[in-house]
Amino acid sequence: MTDEKNTAAAPAPSDFIRDIVAQHVAEQRYAKIVTRFPPEPNGYLHIGHAKSICLNFGIAREHNGQCNLRFDDTNPAKEEVEFVESITTDVRWLIAGWADHCLAFKPKGAHPAPVTSNGKPDRYIAPVPPGENTEAFFASDYFDALYEYALELIRRGKAYVCDLSPEDTDKYRGAPDQPGRESPFRNRSVAENLDLFQRMKAGEFPNAARSLRAKIDMASPNVWLRDPLLYRIRHVPHHHAGDKWCIYPLYDYAHCLSDYLEGITHSICTLEFEVHRPLYDWILEALDLPRALPHQYEFAKLMPNYLIVSKRNLLRLVQEKVVSGWDDPRMPTISGLRRRGIPASAVRRFVTSVGVTKFNSVTDIALFEHAIRDELNTAAARRLAVLRPIKLVLTNIPAGESIPCAAVNNPQAENPTTRPIVLTREVFIETDDFAEVPPPKYFRLKPGGEVRLKYACIIKLDEIVKDAAGAITELRCTAQLDTRSGQPNADKKVKGTIHWVSATQCVDAEVRLYDRLFTVPEPAAEPDFIKVVNPKSLEVVQAKLEPSLASAQLEDRYQFERLGYFALDPKDSAPGKLVFNRTISLKDTWAK
Ligand code: ATP
Ligand code: MG
Repeated sequence: MTDEKNTAAAPAPSDFIRDIVAQHVAEQRYAKIVTRFPPEPNGYLHIGHAKSICLNFGIAREHNGQCNLRFDDTNPAKEEVEFVESITTDVRWLIAGWADHCLAFKPKGAHPAPVTSNGKPDRYIAPVPPGENTEAFFASDYFDALYEYALELIRRGKAYVCDLSPEDTDKYRGAPDQPGRESPFRNRSVAENLDLFQRMKAGEFPNAARSLRAKIDMASPNVWLRDPLLYRIRHVPHHHAGDKWCIYPLYDYAHCLSDYLEGITHSICTLEFEVHRPLYDWILEALDLPRALPHQYEFAKLMPNYLIVSKRNLLRLVQEKVVSGWDDPRMPTISGLRRRGIPASAVRRFVTSVGVTKFNSVTDIALFEHAIRDELNTAAARRLAVLRPIKLVLTNIPAGESIPCAAVNNPQAENPTTRPIVLTREVFIETDDFAEVPPPKYFRLKPGGEVRLKYACIIKLDEIVKDAAGAITELRCTAQLDTRSGQPNADKKVKGTIHWVSATQCVDAEVRLYDRLFTVPEPAAEPDFIKVVNPKSLEVVQAKLEPSLASAQLEDRYQFERLGYFALDPKDSAPGKLVFNRTISLKDTWAK
């Protein structure tokens, strides 16, 4: 595909986070730039995640650094191995040929050893390129180390076991404009806290009976600093860590320490975490850790219009069968985009072109569509296909005769090549390309009119044949064979050119035509976004294709001339059964 060419041509992106990294590189602050992409395995990745992936891998790539794929798997109730697998596949697809060399894994089974007490050197797992004996990073691999760090916080008088119920904990926390109240358990002795926390781990208490909280400041204007929860009791097994644990760390506690353990230099996340940053720093500083600390930087989420980007809402589309699954080609999931035939290079180009800022704003989906068309225009081989066929008989060509023609494969190529196709007595044209009663300025096929069959010759419509019910069964035409390329009248001009396929030398295919899934620009702002699903977002037609498409390859992209860009459906196509998805039409049909 065109990946390398387009990437090379694009100017290196610049934004406030890259400026910070560049500054650190200039100061030689770090031996190596290490970023991470930390999805929670509770759903499929979507186009929004692609922005985070391209930012984190992009920065690693620009500085010969590394980017860790880390599963932020601290909430086992919502997570599944299916999601771990789909996320790994999606990330690898998105960065293939672009930043694979920056993808960092860890040696299989290697976890940082628990840190037993202050002052002892702590260890970290150096990221390595993915290979046979490696696997992605998992926050749950650090549960032992995180537990040891929690003991250390307790010993330092910076964490305590609290017996308030979850409801009371919320009440005591107060509101942003009024201070919270201190928990009655806040001043337990270190010995009692150590004992209770160890017993929490041992499974002595039921769910939610106790929690471990940081001892910070109940009057802080930032509610995240009002003695936030570090651990809670959840008697559930974990998809990666097994059944060893019944206490689980919370995101804020696990994230900063996972970053530290992996030697992350720049921990990049979305804006909603900005208010968590003081807590991120507090935890790391409270432990007085020996190695350099990671820092958190925040940017605005990608929010394209006409789409939904929230795992919870995407799950609803799947569960309520509005779509066929997470990888339905209408879904903004990475697996859906891939199945639809969108090149990874177009996804990268789009999410990068949007830029990285501190301000939330809606991005016009037309920008994405433009990037897709642009990439496919250079990459796609041109082919002839008829989506809604109507039969045409060229009465002056004898049955059984094949007239050879040459069709251009890709006019965008430096040296365009051609392939042979044949014109026969019977051909199919698009139903839309004929009008019995033409509107003004109609230049396609009409009674008595002339039109050019692309790559073949000009034809003239002589007769419309109908059945007893009045339905058109065929159009009888004369082929002006001397208007073929190389023939005396090749230069004869007509206003319309239409595409066609031979009716006797063609293959059948199911073709799925997609449109935007929602009819309004901001579906998520609707009271119920299911009510604004576009009823015409999928149309299935039985098409006729030129015979060369019988050997179409999954990885290839095609432009069906005048119809759009198409790719084989990787799931439903089989030998002898062609199923094509329309990736995108040639023009923006939504533009005013
Ligand atoms: P969702 O809100 O869709 O459930 P999430 O934020 O819960 O997504 P995570 O798995 O936590 O999903 O996200 C992994 C990373 O991707 C995080 O660093 C998060 O900030 C980032 N991310 C999620 N959504 C977007 C988005 N729309 N644009 C850019 N980055 C995003
Ligand atoms: Mg999240």
